[in-house]
This record gives sequence, structure tokens and C-alpha cells, in this order.
Amino acid sequence: MRNPPAAVYYRPMCCCGFFAPPPHARLVPLEEAEPYNRGNPYIHTGYRVRYDLKLTLRSLLFLHNEWANVWTHLSALIGFFFLMFYAYSTWLADGTFSDKAMFLIWVISAQTLLFSSSFFHLTECMGPKVWLIGVRMDYTSISVLIVGSYFPMIHYLFACHSGWQYFYIGLMLALGVLVISISMSNYFQKPEFQALRASLYVFMGLFGALCAPHVYFLSSSEELAGLVPVCIRLALMGGTYIVGAYIYATKIPEKWFPGKFDYWWHSHMIWHIFVVAATMWHYSAVYHAHEWRTNFPCTS
Ligand SMILES: [Zn+2]
Repeated sequence: MRNPPAAVYYRPMCCCGFFAPPPHARLVPLEEAEPYNRGNPYIHTGYRVRYDLKLTLRSLLFLHNEWANVWTHLSALIGFFFLMFYAYSTWLADGTFSDKAMFLIWVISAQTLLFSSSFFHLTECMGPKVWLIGVRMDYTSISVLIVGSYFPMIHYLFACHSGWQYFYIGLMLALGVLVISISMSNYFQKPEFQALRASLYVFMGLFGALCAPHVYFLSSSEELAGLVPVCIRLALMGGTYIVGAYIYATKIPEKWFPGKFDYWWHSHMIWHIFVVAATMWHYSAVYHAHEWRTNFPCTS
């Protein structure tokens, strides 16, 4: 039997010290990866198999095929702490208690997603049970981010109509609970429901479009003109998510060059970067919505 090349098993990030994997940290090819972990046939090498907790944590610091997925979201998670302190000490410093609370809900929802995603990609090598926990955390956190993203927007756009504020926030919370229960239930984990689960996320994401005509009827022409910067950023956010999801679903570029993007710039890494970029567009939209409400305070 032909032995696989040594590079398949051992591929350090750099040739020195701390960043090299310890000798017992095997990286295996696709054929030897866990069955649950063979979702992308175009990633040929760099799989971790049955690592214990210590080795899993150690794998934060040596290269494998999930390393970029872990760090794209872990570094963004750290960045969000700084962004939060920046916002509170600058443009939100004079904001009301609700402005600050709604912003905090959004930041926590984004951090929940980034943490769950980093946790999932880091620990998926610890066996099917941990993998399943990570998958569910990852799915659930998508709903958490979508619901959390609506809070500051509903808060600012319907600030002068508190009844509608409560209505839309209540509706989003109910929708979030429904989607989370579906994504957590064993019944809906079956592959035939994958399209249903994906469409629920899309529906939640597009739900905001249903509020748009309502904002249009409630606002004056000056207020609507002031909302253009917010709309542009929300459109850019949506576009970034759609392009990223397309890259994720089509497995570009690794499907064109199988085995050539095992560690860097595979579709999942690009998708993660697009998620972070879309969240930054949302941050910018929240900032402009805050400016807009400051310029157009409620009259009664
Ligand atoms: Zn991911």
C-alpha cells in the first residue's frame, strides 16, 4: 500500500516553535476525516480528527483547514468589544438609555454569532457529539443575530410611534423563537428540511422589507430624504450577505481548483469575511439611523 505524502499529515503554519503542531497532532486527508466532516469534497487535506480539549485549544495556534474559519470570526469578536466602547464613548455618549440598550442588544447578538461560529469551527474535531452542539449553536446564533439586528432599526424608525415599536419588536421575537425551535428540533435536522431552514432565515432577513412601506407612510418627505444614507447601507448589507451566501453555497473557488484552497481563501473563509463586512454595514446603518433621529426628533 502506498503511504500518503508526509505533507498531508503535517503542515505547520511556519517552521518554528510555538506555531508548529505538536508531533501527536495529526492532520489527515479527506478520506480519513470523520464522516460528519466530509461536507466539502473540494477540501482535500488538513482535517483534525478526535482531538482532546487541550489539543483542540492548541490548534488555535497551528494551521489546519478550519484555522482561517476560526480566526476570521474570533478576531471580529475581539474587534466588536473595541467597536462597542468606541460607539459608547463617541456618537452614543449623549444617546438616551434606549439608544444605548438597543445598540447593546445588537452588539451582543453579533457577538453571539461570532462566538458560536468560532466555537463550532474550533471544536468540530472533538467528535460527533460536540460537533452537533456546535452546529446547533451556529444555526441558533444566525436567528439571534437577525432578530438582534432589527432592534436598533425598529427603535429609531418607529421612535415616535411606540405602539408600532412594541408590535414589530414582539413580532420579531416571536419569529425568532419559532425559527430557533425549528432549527433546534431533531425532526427538522433531516437533510430534506435544509431548504426550509434556509428559507426561514431568508424570510427573517427580508422581513424588514415589509416594515419599509410602513416607515414610508409614517414619515414626512424631509424625514424620508434623511433616511437615504440608512437605506444605502442596509442595501449594501443585504447585497454583501447575498454575494457571500452565493459563494458559500457554490463552494467557489475550491470547486474550480480542488485541493488548492484547503487552508486559505476557500468559500467558507470568504463567507465569514462577508458576514463580518455585512455586520459592519449594519453598524454604519445604525449610526446613520441615530443621526437621523437626532435631526428629526419626535414633536409630541
Ligand atoms: Zn462558518
